[in-house]
Amino acid sequence: MLHLSRLLILASTLVLFGAGASHAGTTEWAPSRVATGVYALIGPTGPRTAENDALNCNIGFVVTEQGVVLIDSGASRLGAERIARAVAAVTDEPIRWVINTGSQDHRWLGNGYFAAQGAEIIALRRTVETQKRYAAQHLASLGGVLGERLTGTEPITAPEPLPGDEARLTLGGTPIELRYLGDAHFPGDAVVWLPDQQVLFSGDLVFTDRLLGVLPSSHVRGWQAAFHRMETLKSKVIVPGHGGVGDLAKAQADTGAYLDWLVSEVGAAQADWEPLDEVVDRLADAPRFSHLANFDTLHRANINRAYLDFERSAD
Ligand SMILES: [Zn+2]
Repeated sequence: MLHLSRLLILASTLVLFGAGASHAGTTEWAPSRVATGVYALIGPTGPRTAENDALNCNIGFVVTEQGVVLIDSGASRLGAERIARAVAAVTDEPIRWVINTGSQDHRWLGNGYFAAQGAEIIALRRTVETQKRYAAQHLASLGGVLGERLTGTEPITAPEPLPGDEARLTLGGTPIELRYLGDAHFPGDAVVWLPDQQVLFSGDLVFTDRLLGVLPSSHVRGWQAAFHRMETLKSKVIVPGHGGVGDLAKAQADTGAYLDWLVSEVGAAQADWEPLDEVVDRLADAPRFSHLANFDTLHRANINRAYLDFERSAD
């Protein structure tokens, strides 16, 4: 009987992993297989916490014959260790390459841990420039959330950033493309495209199930244009930066349509010089998007920041 109850506890713990729930040091992150040899780690859609090691985001990895390619490295050293354990649950191959799709904390602040293990860090030059610009600010914010769990986190960037807007790499025999589609959530954000599997790791270009967040660093029209460029890829599977794995239609409904809405509604209001506070009040109800997680906390701020972004770019 004791044996059976242990099994039940184990089973319920596994369910928790699958839902993305995690408690510091006690639970692990279960990878979801999205194609042969291709996996996603799907984080919770709520806020950063010490319990989730600020991993309220998705991470990807590809298992090749010569090692693992990790897509994004988490927000801290301890978060990186958690990612490494999740990869080790699937394969004994070492993590040899780490690609960064962006410059937000959870895209790259785990780089130092993987570099110390011998991994090569890979990013476009334009991504690295933004990483360096925001590193101190992001570490300071993370300190408030993670406290002691930020210990040992070093802002290590790719030593030889890749020039241009596109890099076609072959890592462990697997073709992998790193593409810049336009300044979006942050300047220099990029996506990882696996042409053989037709899998896209979108980084923070796509949010599903939860509302995207417009930040002071975001370029809303650039994000919209980048999203529409992304649509031309023949993606079978899109692993978004945040939210559940899906297809293009899901990305269009949860991200593309909202970007279009911001540009048309807030853009028109800003062009008409409608006062900002009136615009925020008038557009606060957006029933098409209110089912998305975090709508109540983010939507008004998104209108506000989109308006200011449009005002800046109109100067
Ligand atoms: Zn993000």
